[in-house]
Amino acid sequence: MSKPVRVRFAPSPTGPLHLGGVRTALYNYLFAKKSNGTFIIRVEDTDEKRFVEGAQEYIFESLKWCGIMPTEGPGLGGDKGPYVQSERRDLYRPYMEQLVENGSAYYAFDTPEDLEAMREQAKKMGLPNWQYNAVTRSSMKNSLSLSKEEVQKRLDNGDPYTVRMKMPRNTDVKFEDAIRGWVTVNTNNLDDKVLFKESGMPTYHLANIVDDHLMEISHVIRGEEWLPSAPLHVLLYEAFGWDAPVFAHLPLILRPDGNGKLSKRDGDRLGFPVFPIDWMSPNNEKYTGYREQGYFPEAFVNMLAFLGWNPGTNQEIFSLEELVESFSLERVGKSGARFDPDKTKWFNQQYLRETDNSVLADLLEPYLKEAGISADKSHVERVCGVMKERATFIPDLFEESKFFFQDITDYDEKTVRKKWKEDTGGLLGELKDGFVALDSFGHDEVEGAFSAVLNKNEIGFGKLGPALRLAVTGKGMGPSLFDICEIVGKDKVLERIDIALEKFA
Ligand code: GLU
Repeated sequence: MSKPVRVRFAPSPTGPLHLGGVRTALYNYLFAKKSNGTFIIRVEDTDEKRFVEGAQEYIFESLKWCGIMPTEGPGLGGDKGPYVQSERRDLYRPYMEQLVENGSAYYAFDTPEDLEAMREQAKKMGLPNWQYNAVTRSSMKNSLSLSKEEVQKRLDNGDPYTVRMKMPRNTDVKFEDAIRGWVTVNTNNLDDKVLFKESGMPTYHLANIVDDHLMEISHVIRGEEWLPSAPLHVLLYEAFGWDAPVFAHLPLILRPDGNGKLSKRDGDRLGFPVFPIDWMSPNNEKYTGYREQGYFPEAFVNMLAFLGWNPGTNQEIFSLEELVESFSLERVGKSGARFDPDKTKWFNQQYLRETDNSVLADLLEPYLKEAGISADKSHVERVCGVMKERATFIPDLFEESKFFFQDITDYDEKTVRKKWKEDTGGLLGELKDGFVALDSFGHDEVEGAFSAVLNKNEIGFGKLGPALRLAVTGKGMGPSLFDICEIVGKDKVLERIDIALEKFA
């Protein structure tokens, strides 16, 4: 029987979660759900220097907003906790000792100054990329170069040390990545990474492997930036004698122009958010989020799912359940996925169109209230019904719909200039008489009266339509004019025609 699927999202609380991080969480979520597995969140805070206050809370709030919460993690339950690495601190030392004992790792007593001096010396000799590795380690101060007695003396003495991986020389490390296929890396390109720090805290590499093992993680789904670390991780599993999980390294998310990775810094600079929700940095810099920009979480998630994955069909709109149903790692691509801000808006527009008028009316309510407008919910729903085709965000929907609730203050100047001709006043006056005579003012009756004026004067829509739209909405464009007239209502339409006649004729 194959092992149950258990996947984890393992963010480091070093700042806000970038949309690439949310995509990693999403793919883990989808993969877990699809496989009836468990989605876990583990907070990797072993790098004390990079810890940022509030980042963990931000990560949780973002996942909650997206509707992709894990079911095991800090504050969420699960029997493999604690799920925050700093709370597991004491657990890692025996694992580190196991590696030293079996010869896979060693104590290194070099001070930061020693290392710096080594680098400087190498630079002078024309070797700018000095590494602590199979070649150089014998000239450093470590348990491989020093005598047994000397090492023991230093340890007994409480001398500070780190523990480093003893990277084998010239060995091909091979593993099969679920997205990239077979990956082979020669160890000559890898250094003796620090596994355990002077502070008694493990580094990311050691803690990550120990925890994935103890938490029985079956698949490691993470960003491509971790691919260079994977050979070390594979060797660590071997050193412990544990089975490695399946690795799946997700493609990078690229800038819209395809030039390089979309980074945290690109956000506001390129004119679109790269964060799911607003973030206020500890030094009070504000970064905008998709939530605050008016995106529906469903649209944001739908867009993210397509950054690196495709269903193999033409379908683009997917609910979260449908994504779970269709998702597979086989359909995740290897090459970088270009972020497209226009497509992101397009997704939101599609979701806005599909949203029930009654839900839209509720979302519009705070904007109406702020503008001092009170309207029956059924009226607001009808407005949403005709206007939603043209809006991308709720604030747009509000702006575009204001004329239904308020007198017009601004008329589109270009329409006035281009469409209000000498005979317009007369034609509009004639239309007004036709409207006055109507008993009922539904779409069809309004259209009937309008067509009658066109027929009688043998003119086309363009001679009268724009003027009527200008009078009733103040705008040059919009959805069906007859629907609009019906909702605005006969009295208001007549009143607005009078105002326009007075203003422009
Ligand atoms: N803590 C790492 C990060 O910040 C996790 C990498 C991994 O998933 O192994 O992304």
